[in-house]
Amino acid sequence: MVGKNGLVRPDEFRKNAHALVDWIADYLERSADLPIVPAVAPGELKARLPASAPEAPEPFDELMADLDRIVVPGLTGWQNPGWFAYFPGNSSPPSLLAEMATAAFGQQGMMWATSPIATELEMVVLDWLVDLLGLPQGWKMSGPGGGAIQVSASDSSHLALVVSRHRAQATNPIDQLVAYTSAQSHSSIEKGARVAGFKHFRAIDVDDEFAMRPEALEAAIAADRESGLIPAFVCSTVGTTGTTATDPIEPIAAIARREGMWHHVDAAFVGSAMICPEFRVHQQGLELVDSYVFNPHKWLLTNFDCSVFYVADRQPLHETLSIVPPYLRSAAATSSEVVDYRDWQVPLGRRFRALKLWWVLRYYGAEGLRSVIRRHVALGHDLAARIEAEPDLELVAPARFSLVCFRHRAGNEATDRIVEAINSSGASYVTPSLIDERRFIRVSIGQTYTEAEHIDRLWKSIAGAL
Ligand code: PLP
Repeated sequence: MVGKNGLVRPDEFRKNAHALVDWIADYLERSADLPIVPAVAPGELKARLPASAPEAPEPFDELMADLDRIVVPGLTGWQNPGWFAYFPGNSSPPSLLAEMATAAFGQQGMMWATSPIATELEMVVLDWLVDLLGLPQGWKMSGPGGGAIQVSASDSSHLALVVSRHRAQATNPIDQLVAYTSAQSHSSIEKGARVAGFKHFRAIDVDDEFAMRPEALEAAIAADRESGLIPAFVCSTVGTTGTTATDPIEPIAAIARREGMWHHVDAAFVGSAMICPEFRVHQQGLELVDSYVFNPHKWLLTNFDCSVFYVADRQPLHETLSIVPPYLRSAAATSSEVVDYRDWQVPLGRRFRALKLWWVLRYYGAEGLRSVIRRHVALGHDLAARIEAEPDLELVAPARFSLVCFRHRAGNEATDRIVEAINSSGASYVTPSLIDERRFIRVSIGQTYTEAEHIDRLWKSIAGAL
């Protein structure tokens, strides 16, 4: 309930916050037992809400009671250890607490002057990640490049497309520019190309393991050049959404350089695995690319939103994005020491997102994070071995990381029956997928608390449907 002059006193906040933190701790304890798929029909939750906002203040107890009454029944089990759908959307206690502190500070980090700590912490934490993930040293803020936290991988890739278009359009007609990526890349690349104004988009053929074929890229470029078009952008994926296939960065980079194209790498999910040196073989050649994205909000225990975007050279980014009206000028902004993150993204305003990443990196330490990734990958390999040992099942792609893709050898209907058995069990949840009319099941392991017992439960549903 609000007090005098409509204000909430700090002691009242303290009491409410303690009650909420207790509620959250209880929620975390019971979240594994909540339904993964909410048992609600479309519109049912809306019907539980009043049609208009309250005129009179309501007590905090009532707000809290509605968490149980309205919110929890409508939650999808992203934080359930039986969550194997899509890619994970991780969370963790230190990240959650940092989000609370971030909200308390209410910073608007568009410029150094509007939040020195939001700016400088982000610079330092993203420099740390360059070392932790084995990324090129030139991507540190002390080099020609640098990093910025964006909302999502789709945003980051869109940004790379916008910069490539801006650069290419200086010397070429915009309607002749072409963007390329593999036929297995995420839909955000095609969407980003469209929004960035590309009139020509090519989905390049993949090999047997679903990685882009560089010779098919060369052939598409040659055909486009032949018809007077200008190759301007190519995206390689390290860890495709369908099967975590990894495109060969080095040969694609050689083509991009020869053709004067911007080369972006989308490592949205798999990028977090690079904290373990044994996976870095899949990112060989990054020192040759122009931009890169990965999402700590997928697999590095950091709450959505936290997508890390790096450029090898920040000049083209600023040439594309920097517009400084008089009300955004400051003495600090004219210093070469100062980073104004508004020039690293499309919107002006930005959240203070570095705090949660900083806390996650410190609370777990690199070794703690490595052990989480390795545990998930080991669980994936264990599941893949069970599938290979089962005559009715087959893997549809190598399980290089923690995503396991398999199908029933009898075909689509039998595969669908397994999906139905898993998803109706209430204990696990998977999303089916499709390549060339062949349906398959993606088991995406990466929820913070997934352990062997959850894989055992999943396997029971699979085995029961054979
Ligand atoms: N790129 C890849 C390879 C993905 O798998 C995904 C989502 O799963 C995305 C991009 C989109 O990520 P975001 O939701 O952060 O935009």
